[in-house]
Amino acid sequence: PASPPKPAEKQKQPASPPLPRQNSKTAPPSPPKVISDSKNNRIYHRLDFLGEGGFARVYEVKDVRGSKWACKVVTKSSLKTKKAKTKLYAEIKIHRSLEHPNIVAFIDCFEDDENVYMTLELCLGGSLMDLLRRRRRFTEPETRFFMVQILGACHYMHTHQVIHRDLKLGNIFLDANMNIKVGDFGLAALIENEGERKKTICGTPNYIAPEVLFDTANGHSFEVDTWSTGVILYTLVVGRPPFQTKEVKGIYNRIKENDYDFPPERPVSSEARDLITSILAPDPQLRPTVHEIVAHPFFSEGTFPPYIPISANETIPTFQ
Ligand code: ADP
Repeated sequence: PASPPKPAEKQKQPASPPLPRQNSKTAPPSPPKVISDSKNNRIYHRLDFLGEGGFARVYEVKDVRGSKWACKVVTKSSLKTKKAKTKLYAEIKIHRSLEHPNIVAFIDCFEDDENVYMTLELCLGGSLMDLLRRRRRFTEPETRFFMVQILGACHYMHTHQVIHRDLKLGNIFLDANMNIKVGDFGLAALIENEGERKKTICGTPNYIAPEVLFDTANGHSFEVDTWSTGVILYTLVVGRPPFQTKEVKGIYNRIKENDYDFPPERPVSSEARDLITSILAPDPQLRPTVHEIVAHPFFSEGTFPPYIPISANETIPTFQ
């Protein structure tokens, strides 16, 4: 069944409290200060609010040993429909099956009378979206560093039959050492039979691949994530997404026409341009594989930093 794509990525503020909602029926009560996992006989102390997405709120929590985690909380009142339950179970099933240094680690899930809880690896660096807002755009050495980690996560997911389907800056987090952690498997799909095609229209307008929107009869597969990595690469070096317009319809039109350019006021190298152009191929079969992407000269010509300094949160780093 086709569900409408999510609205454009929200302007999320890092670590701000949830906004008071107009409709009290939709305002879920805060989870308890002490969250107990009776199944495993563990307790967590709720600390700061970290952020909220379409259906979950995420808090920092501390266990009795003093280790800190992120805890994604979904109220049971939001799980009344079969569709909502199926979606959450799919997210849990897929996320808990993945284990990779550049994917947010799934620790456990449990419930109490009010909520379902997922404990996750804590990403204190915020999202790449937050970082891009502070920095406006990244240098190509930083972009190489981030992209190789994103592509590593992508390759791992695809070899485990998982399509993420919502790869975007707001779902890519950073740990305290500026390493990439891909998160939010809320739209991910498992390919259970080889050659299977997915038909649900989903994703986030700026990052959505053309075949998801315009080849609904044929469906889509792993190449939709490849497309999103092309949009991400463009956004990191240029500072805004390639198909951006005010209206969502305008974005879809530009995606349909493959209408994007490289603004002269934000020069990018010819290697970056060439790689972006090859990834943003309208025909999914013509897009490079993840292996071909990392083998592109963009990654070998020019500095490849061994790590990103924390100072890059505020200022442009220099690399030798
Ligand atoms: P949803 O599935 O409802 O969209 P997300 O998984 O995107 O929820 O999480 C919502 C917000 O919570 C994120 O934008 C981010 O600010 C915060 N968040 C999510 N996971 C983590 C994490 N592992 N560490 C730190 N913050 C997180």
